Amino acid sequence: MEKKKLSLPVQIIVALLCGIVVGLVCYFTNTASFTANYLKPIGTIFINLLKFIVVPIVLLSMISGIISMGDLKKVGAVGWKTVAFFMVTTALACVIGLAIGSLFDGLGWFPALALEEGAVWDKATSANFMDTLVNIFPSNMWSAFLNANMLQVIVIALLIGGGILSAGERGTLAVSMVDSIYAVFEKVMEFIIKLSPIGVFTMMAWVVATQGADVLGPIALVLLCAYVGYFIHAVLVYSLSARAFAKISPFAFFKGAGAAMIFAFTSASSVATLPVSRECAEKMGAEKDVAAFVLPLGATINMDGTAVYQCVATIFLAACCGVDLTLGQMIIVVVTATLASIGTAGVSGAGVIMLAMVLEAIGVPVEMIMIIYGVDRLFDMGRTTLNITGDIACSLCVTSWEKNKAAKAAK
Ligand code: ASP
Repeated sequence: MEKKKLSLPVQIIVALLCGIVVGLVCYFTNTASFTANYLKPIGTIFINLLKFIVVPIVLLSMISGIISMGDLKKVGAVGWKTVAFFMVTTALACVIGLAIGSLFDGLGWFPALALEEGAVWDKATSANFMDTLVNIFPSNMWSAFLNANMLQVIVIALLIGGGILSAGERGTLAVSMVDSIYAVFEKVMEFIIKLSPIGVFTMMAWVVATQGADVLGPIALVLLCAYVGYFIHAVLVYSLSARAFAKISPFAFFKGAGAAMIFAFTSASSVATLPVSRECAEKMGAEKDVAAFVLPLGATINMDGTAVYQCVATIFLAACCGVDLTLGQMIIVVVTATLASIGTAGVSGAGVIMLAMVLEAIGVPVEMIMIIYGVDRLFDMGRTTLNITGDIACSLCVTSWEKNKAAKAAK
């Protein structure tokens, strides 16, 4: 009989549970040094691979995103309205994520962990604004890559993407190169994600062995915090904008989007949910060609759930290091999380890779991701649901703006 392979999410959950059990055993038998000496190094290999992939993925995904924006000129008004809706709602998602994360942190629900050296805050926490601004612009491309300076990598991506667009015909070779190299790195990323059960098991065993069961409560709280953020964003931003611009009541909106939301929750992939979101959007009155444009673009670049998650996770992991973010750092988080969510692919587990970029930008050690990596699927189900709900809301609003414009023109 053919053996059935466990799916990756199941493997990760199993790895998480095994890690917790092994960690607890080591904690209670005072053998935590075993996990530190033998398991953690294996987890570190996984973290190194994550760090390795984040620069090329951010660079290439952002360049290819900008290149695809070039086509926006062709679709004109619909294109720009869509992108404006995406940008504004994603920035709001970041603000909601930061606010709710700070609230949980302020209530003392995100405790500092007693971490070993190597997993501590590695950057000055009070950089002045002008210095930060100046440092965003690289004087040397390679040093930006070498130091994984994510803000500089983003600027490089924006410049190269803009350059390719303005080179027009002569830039076509570069377009295909970016496409092709990006496809290669996506495969490498898939491979690294496949290794995640090993990373989750070893790091979880180490975290629990050194912290005891105390760390499990905060993990449950950060999950709760993210879901509160998802819920607030869906109700405040989406249902209200559908109400204000498309004249659809919140109840009718969530009822209409329900099927797509359930599908997204179970599949954890915006791209896989596309056919269902399209059907829901059209049933609620989105015009066919608007939906055909907005939804696929949204499934690629509009990730408000991912943005909420990245902000909440950043505050939580910074708190684990014993640090509260300054206002300046929060602004950097809003900018990087907005861009990171644009660069996140609409497949399951992509958002956590991009979280590495946000953490790098403000100096939280990437190792910290392992504290929440094991439960990432649970975060992912909620963030994907929010991601596609935003796409549907956008298709309804753009439809109504276009209709109003046509009605005015006809007068
Ligand atoms: N799974 C999400 C989506 O498809 C992306 C993410 O991991 O944040 O929308």
